[in-house]
Parts: sequence; C-alpha cells; structure tokens
Amino acid sequence: MTTHTVDVLVVGAGPTGLSAAGDLARAGRSVTVLERRPTPHPASRAFATMARTLEVLDARGVAEGLLAHSHTAPGVTVFAGGRVDLSHLDSPYRFVMVTPQSNVDRALAGYAVEQGADIRRGVEVIGLSQDAGGVTVTTEHDSWRAKYVIGADGAHSTVRKLVGADFPGKTILSSIVLADVKLAHGPADGGLRVGSTRDVFALLAPYHRHDADGSWYRTMVWDRHHQVPDSEPVDRDEVVGILARAMGADLGVLEVEWKSRFHCDERQVTRYRHGRVFLAGDAAHVHSPMGGQGMNTGIQDAANLAWKIDAVLSGADDAVLDTYHDERHPIGKRVLLQSGMLARGITLHPRLARGLRNLLVPRLLRIARVRDTIAGSLAGTTLRYARNRGDHPLVGTRGTQIPLTHNRIGVLLRVAPGFLFVREHGTDEIDVAGLMQAERADDGPAVLIRPDGYLAWAGRSADRCGWMAALARWTGPEVQHPHAQFMTAPGGHPRRPVGARR
Ligand SMILES: Cc1cc2nc3c(=O)[nH]c(=O)nc-3n(C[C@H](O)[C@H](O)[C@H](O)COP(=O)(O)OP(=O)(O)OC[C@H]3O[C@@H](n4cnc5c(N)ncnc54)[C@H](O)[C@@H]3O)c2cc1C
Repeated sequence: MTTHTVDVLVVGAGPTGLSAAGDLARAGRSVTVLERRPTPHPASRAFATMARTLEVLDARGVAEGLLAHSHTAPGVTVFAGGRVDLSHLDSPYRFVMVTPQSNVDRALAGYAVEQGADIRRGVEVIGLSQDAGGVTVTTEHDSWRAKYVIGADGAHSTVRKLVGADFPGKTILSSIVLADVKLAHGPADGGLRVGSTRDVFALLAPYHRHDADGSWYRTMVWDRHHQVPDSEPVDRDEVVGILARAMGADLGVLEVEWKSRFHCDERQVTRYRHGRVFLAGDAAHVHSPMGGQGMNTGIQDAANLAWKIDAVLSGADDAVLDTYHDERHPIGKRVLLQSGMLARGITLHPRLARGLRNLLVPRLLRIARVRDTIAGSLAGTTLRYARNRGDHPLVGTRGTQIPLTHNRIGVLLRVAPGFLFVREHGTDEIDVAGLMQAERADDGPAVLIRPDGYLAWAGRSADRCGWMAALARWTGPEVQHPHAQFMTAPGGHPRRPVGARR
C-alpha cells in the first residue's frame, strides 16, 4: 500500500469538491480529489444556477463559457401566476442560468485541473483517522496523508459516517420524477414555471435546446396518489399525465428522455468541522430541490472554506477554520427552511389554505420590497455573514457590486485571488507590500474584501490600524498578507509582486 502526501485531500468530485480543489490548487496548495465513480456523474440533477453562484464562477473564469450555452430565465412563476422576478437583482446576473448540472461539473473539473488539482476517479474512500498532525485516509489500494480533508462526497457521505457526524432530519417528499421533455407548446415566457393542483405538481425549466418541432425542458413531477419506491421505473405516461394535470393544459409532449425517480430529505449536520475534517455541500445539508439551492449552496460552501484552509496553512490562527461552520451552518439552515417552505407551499392540500396562498402570494410578489427580498434570497445575493460588535455595518456583505475606477471586482479576484483593498474614490494608493489595491468609483467607504468576495472591514483608508487588524484576524499577525499575489500596477492592472508563491 503506497502512502501519498498532500496538503488537502478532497473526497468527491461533485460541484462542491471540484470548486474547493480548484481554489486550493489556485492558492498553490497540493490537492487531490478522490472520486468513487470511474467517470463523471451521468445524472443531470441540478439545472438552476443562481446569480451569486455565477458571481463565484465569474471570479474563477468559468461563468462566461457556461452562459454561452445556457438558457437564462428572468423569473420563476410559482403559485396562481405569482412570479419571482429576478430582473431587479443587485448583480450582473439578473436571471437564473438553466443548464444541466453535468455542464457545471465539467466546467469546474476543467477549472480544478487547470489550477493543478489532481483528480483521481474510480477511487473510493473507505477509512479515515486523524491525529494532531493530520488525517490519514484509506482507499482499497492506497493511503493518503493530508493536513486537512474536505468531505464533499454527497448526501450519503462516507466521510460524514467516518467522523461520526450526525445527520438529523427526515424525508419530506417521495416519488418525485425527473425527466427531460420536448414540448410542442411549452411556456414561451422563458421563465421557470411551477404548476400544481391539490394532488399533483410539476416544474418546467426551459433549456437552451430547440428542435424544429418543439423545445426541451427539464421537468420535475409528483403525484400525491402515486407514491412508490425510488427503484420503481418511470413510465412515460406518468410524466405526460402529471404534467398536463399540474399545468392545466396539454403542452404537446413529443419526447420524454432521461427519466428518474427520487425522494428528498431535509437534513443538516450539527457541526461542519470535525477537527481537521470539514463537511461541505450535500455531505453537510440536503433539502428539497425546490428553489434550486443544493448545488449553489455547495459551491458557496467551498468558496468559503478553501481560502480559510489556505490561510491557516500559511500561518493564520486555527480559529479561522471555525468560522467555516459559524458562517455556513446558518446559511445551510436557512436554505433548508426556504426550500422546505417552498415544497410545502407547492404541495399544500387543504382547499382553504391553497385559496389563501393563491390569493396572497401573487399580490405580495408584486410589492417591490417583498419581491427583492425573496429574489435576493433565492439568488444568494442578499446572503451575508455575521459581523462582530463594533464592525462597520457593511462587514459580512458581499463586495462584488462595488464599482471601481478600473476593472471590476470579479475580474480582480479572478486574476489575483486574495484579499483586495478598495480605497475611497480620489485617494492615493496606500503604502503596504503585497496587498492588491483598487479605487472605488463611487462615494462609498474603503473596504477590505476577502478572497470569497465578502467584506472583512469597511471604513477610512487612513484608519490603518483598523484594516490591518482585520487583515491580521484572517491571515495571522506575522504575515502582513500571505495570499496577496498581485499589487496594483499603474492603470489599475494587477501585477505579481516579487516573491509571490505562484
Ligand atoms: C432532482 C434534483 C434537482 C436538483 N436541482 C437543483 C438545482 O436546480 N439547483 C441546485 O443548486 N441544486 C439542485 N439539486 C441539488 C444538487 O444536485 C446537489 O446539491 C449537488 O449535486 C451537491 O453537490 P456535491 O458536490 O455536494 O455532492 P455530489 O454532487 O453528490 O457529489 C459527491 C461526489 O462524491 C462521490 N463520492 C461519494 N462517496 C464517495 C467515497 N466514499 N469516495 C469517493 N467519492 C465518493 C460521489 O460519487 C459524487 O460524485 C438538485 C438535486 C436533485 C436530486
């Protein structure tokens, strides 16, 4: 049995594991991904990629390529014509990107490999133990020694079982059918659409795929009175029948492709961190696919965790790693609540409750404030992390939308991943080695942006003690800035400083 040594071992090559591996490799860490399946996951589960995830993908250079081959839906029609309008989102991506998960997985695998991650497929993790110095992971033929392990091995996570983490929760919906359908008369508004009666529901999401006689949609259908085990094959007529009943119209189903039956649980681990092992993505939380949040949340878990592991490997305090749980667990909890409410709202049975829902929801969604709160929550753009007492109110919010005099934040975080200091408009560059800088184009305060795009500090550039303390909290007192690999060059273009790691 050979023992391999790496900085970080990632278990699972789904969207969560691939994002984390890419980010760690980009930071210069040796990282290996072990994936049980010999070839990429054939099932296209997720189809909705939200605005905040697109911002994260943009900062890794993979958003544009995906968008070029995807449908962009400007809204989601839910109950009684009520529509969640995404066109007012505070993001460059005022829509939901509809594309099969396999496309997102492929793009993220490309990113991870390009950054230098080693992806090994057909290798199943079967054992794990940890001590003060690291983690030992075993597979059938080899063993791996890593300083940290990320368990991104999905809903049935082996890593979760091996660290003894609980996964409390329950099944909330069973016998949901997923299929790709070609419709002669599909909805033409370009948005996602949910239709339901007291007994059935269906969701339709348009793909970027059109034939001469019709267009392709991803559909999810469910019948209260046809509850069978996941192993029961899906009949074409089942899909066609439920779709017509739920949508209240014959949409002219021409073809039904790729059918599968599944159930959904609502569960979340109590702790995301177990010593040197972290749980992320579906390994940490599962919920209803309603609202399209699972893959999105997993990618954002990875974006939050990877730079923190890199920071601690560079000398930051171990407590930085605790903030992964502190920041992501509440977000996971909120996602469970939100997707659960949507699932329960769609499958409501009592007539009176359905009547009230149909009366109220469309009206509420026309109120701009309600619309923007719900849209921002679904899209992840209003997501924020907690700040400490005394911090500026902006700390914990995302900085992606701050306008710069040169370039934009997504591009700077892509070409120079690390902390970014954005000065007030009209101020001179500050004198600090290795810290990437930019200048605001508006009247807002100076901000220190973390590698995942969230604000670590806000105030006046002249408050050197303030922002230096914030930087030291995340990167350690010794190193002024271990992650900064670029500084601002004349004209606002980043350049590598002497001695950068990569
Ligand atoms: C029908 C359906 C529709 C959905 N729609 C959406 C949507 O629109 N938007 C959205 O955001 N989410 C959606 N989701 C959820 C989304 O698919 C998941 O949340 C996402 O795949 C989770 O990614 P992950 O990387 O955490 O886990 P996974 O994608 O499950 O990847 C885990 C990987 O780990 C591997 N693995 C497992 N055990 C081991 C082991 N012991 N050793 C090595 N490798 C191992 C697995 O083979 C797998 O490849 C949907 C889910 C379903 C079922």
